[in-house]
Formats: sequence, C-alpha cells, structure tokens
Amino acid sequence: MREIEVKVDVLIVGASLAGSAAAKRLVDAGLEVVALERRSLPRDKVCSGILSPRGHRFLVENFGTLPEEILHNPVSCRGVTFHFPSMISIPMDFDGGPTPHLHRKFSDYWAITRSGVTVHDNTTFLCLEDSGRDVSVRARREGREIRYHARFVIGADGPKSAVTRALYPDYQKSIPWFMVGQKFQKIIECPLDREYFHFWFHPGLGHYTWSHERNEQQIVGVGFPAGGNLHRAHGNVEKYLNEKHGVKLEPADRLEGCAQNFGPSLINRYVFGRGNVLITGQAAGFFNMLAEGMSCALHSGAIAGESILEAMQRSRPVQEVYRELIASEVKRCTDQWNPLQILFSNPHEADFKSEFGKLSRREKITVIRDLVNFLKIYAPFKWGRQILAQTAIRTILGEYPSGRWL
Ligand SMILES: Cc1cc2nc3c(=O)[nH]c(=O)nc-3n(C[C@H](O)[C@H](O)[C@H](O)COP(=O)(O)OP(=O)(O)OC[C@H]3O[C@@H](n4cnc5c(N)ncnc54)[C@H](O)[C@@H]3O)c2cc1C
Repeated sequence: MREIEVKVDVLIVGASLAGSAAAKRLVDAGLEVVALERRSLPRDKVCSGILSPRGHRFLVENFGTLPEEILHNPVSCRGVTFHFPSMISIPMDFDGGPTPHLHRKFSDYWAITRSGVTVHDNTTFLCLEDSGRDVSVRARREGREIRYHARFVIGADGPKSAVTRALYPDYQKSIPWFMVGQKFQKIIECPLDREYFHFWFHPGLGHYTWSHERNEQQIVGVGFPAGGNLHRAHGNVEKYLNEKHGVKLEPADRLEGCAQNFGPSLINRYVFGRGNVLITGQAAGFFNMLAEGMSCALHSGAIAGESILEAMQRSRPVQEVYRELIASEVKRCTDQWNPLQILFSNPHEADFKSEFGKLSRREKITVIRDLVNFLKIYAPFKWGRQILAQTAIRTILGEYPSGRWL
C-alpha cells in the first residue's frame, strides 16, 4: 500500500483549545495548516468546563459570541467556593461576573472549526524527524500510515503529549503524575450553591477534591498521585459531603478520569520544544491554580502561532522567538503559585484576599492552619524550595528564569 504524503506550512498536533488558538493565528496569516486529532470529532474531554474570565475574553475576541449549544447547564458559574476542614467556607465571585460552563465536546469543536484550519481527525501522531529545513511526521489513520512534511510542528496534544515524548523520551518519566476522576450522580438533595465551583482544602479527602452541578447531576471529583484507588477516594468524599454538607446523591451512573501533569507550572519547569517543533498548552506544562487550564492553553497556543509568523517574517530561529514571547504567559501562570504574588498582588481572577479579610481574626487563624495542614500532603514532591527559589528570582529580576525550560 502506498504511503500518503501531505505537505503543509504548519502541522498542529491536537485539535483542542491550544491547537485552535494556534491555528487561528496561522490561518488568519494565510498559511497552509493542518491540525491532527487522534479522536473522531466532536470528541469528549474530561473537564469541569469552568472557563476563567480571561479564557472567556479570548474565546469571544477570537472566535465570536459563544453559542448556547456549547454550554452545559447551569450555563454559567459565578465563582469558586473554598471549603476548609474547620467548616469555614469562602465563596468568591469571578472578576467581571459569571463565566460560561463549557461543554468541552462542543466548545472545542466550535473553536477548531471557527479557526478555519483543515482538521484530520482519527489521525494519531506517531513520531517526527526535524532536518532543520522541514519536519517530517509519521501519523496513522485507520491503519494507514500518513507522512506529513511541515516547516513547523506545534505539539498541542495535552498532558501525555506524544510530541513531547518524541523530542524528550525521558521527560514524562521524570515528573510526578496525578490521577483525577469524576463521578456523575443524580441529585436527591444538594445544599451546595449550584452557581459555584466547590473546592475542598482537606488533607483527609485528597490532593484535589471538587464538586459542582452539571445537567441535574452533581459531579464529585477527586485527584491523587498516580497509583491511588479512585473508588475508595471517591467513596470517602461522597460520605464526607453527605455527613458535613448534607449532600444526598444517587449512585454514580458515569465515571471519567485521566492522568494530569500537575507540577511544572508551579516550579517554572515548562517544555517548549526544540528546533522547528514547538510545544504548547498543557503539553508544555501550563496549568493554573485549581486545575484551570483552558485560558493558558488558549493564550500559549496563540503565542506559539504568533512565534512562527514572527520567525518567518524576520528570518529568526523560531525557538528563540517563542521563548521570548511565551515569557508573559509563564509569568501569568507561575505567578498564581508564587507566595509573594499571592500576598502582595492579585494573580487570580477572583479576590480571595478581600473575602478572607471579611473573616473574624479567629477564623483567619483557623483557615491559615487548615491551609498549612493541606499543603503538607504535597511535601513528598519537594516543590516548596523550588517555588521559593523561583519566587526570589522573580522578585529580583521581574521574570522567571528561562534556563529551567526544556
Ligand atoms: C477533571 C478535570 C477538570 C478540569 N477542569 C477545568 C476547568 O474547570 N477549567 C479549566 O480551565 N480547565 C480545566 N481543566 C484543565 C483543562 O481541561 C486543560 O488544561 C485544557 O484542556 C488543556 O488544553 P490543551 O489544548 O492544551 O490540551 P487538551 O485539551 O488536553 O487537548 C489535547 C488534544 O490532543 C489530542 N491528542 C493527544 N494525543 C494525540 C496524538 N498522539 N495524535 C493526535 N492528537 C492527539 C487529544 O485527543 C486532545 O484533543 C480540567 C482538567 C481535568 C482533567
């Protein structure tokens, strides 16, 4: 059987939000671009779908007003409520008002379609070779091999990025992995405010525990280091929600989960690629606090696209341009984990400090104690010193050092 050959200016791997944003920049500039997607579109994506105000602005400005078909019910989210073991709860509204509750299956398909890029779905990236003049990519569609030749490749293929693996075979083995799983349960009774995303800073429940309503069901989600037991962790949270918050749910009728590369953005260890291959979105390590990854996927994807245009126009090495331009998104993302930024600036899109300020002195002390106890469960990852070192450099130089990026 003859191999199929396709020649393009840019090949994007992954037709999700980072891929859509990159595609929009490149297609608008008149380049020939193909986006590969291993799944059949529209495809499902494990996600709470709570878009940050900045992510919302990006979508509207670049792709237009969001149609109702790409939203879940409730169609919007007012903000986040933090819950603590001491039973203090702090609701915080998003800056600028409620944001859309995206149905990722349809929002991602809407964005990639509106970018105008040619999509090859059911097509899995396998490997690449960068000659310096062009990048040759092998992919597979329905058992047939396809070879793409592109001047540039963008890896926008999410946390388990095969493009990253092709460039750095050992990288993914060197970082900690987390499992997240969410169960969908019909609501019998739920006193948790349905207008908010709820998050628990509770060391006894797990590393990442959340709940919110979607389409008359309650999502109960748990996150823990890879290797843990999802059903046990979930059962524990369900019992807690029942006993402490009066949440009564029917048994789960659906479960979804996946692995997450939580960590690189906390310690400024991003992966941006090599030669004519750029890595972007969550594949590069972008992940904001509370696992909010859509806004940074969109912005970093757009920057990857812009970097290619700038490199072509000015005949400059694309990595050099990308690393210059991406520094602004690194700052935004890593600032969210930077203790000095949290204390003296406002890196998040909801005002924790002003809500915290409304607590009594005694409640404030209790919340700080609860937070410290929660952070202790992250001690085995040894991120604390690295965060402090990056914080010090950011304070002195005004930016995070690019020498730590791959
Ligand atoms: C449980 C959970 C809840 C979350 N909740 C939120 C939230 O409420 N708000 C928020 O902002 N973020 C949330 N996130 C994070 C958010 O979903 C991601 O950060 C965001 O989708 C990253 O976008 P991306 O475009 O970089 O990658 P992805 O969305 O992961 O897309 C990667 C794409 O590449 C494709 N692909 C992968 N491998 C290949 C291959 N070899 N060949 C071809 N295609 C390939 C995939 O199929 C996929 O379509 C959540 C994540 C999880 C797991």
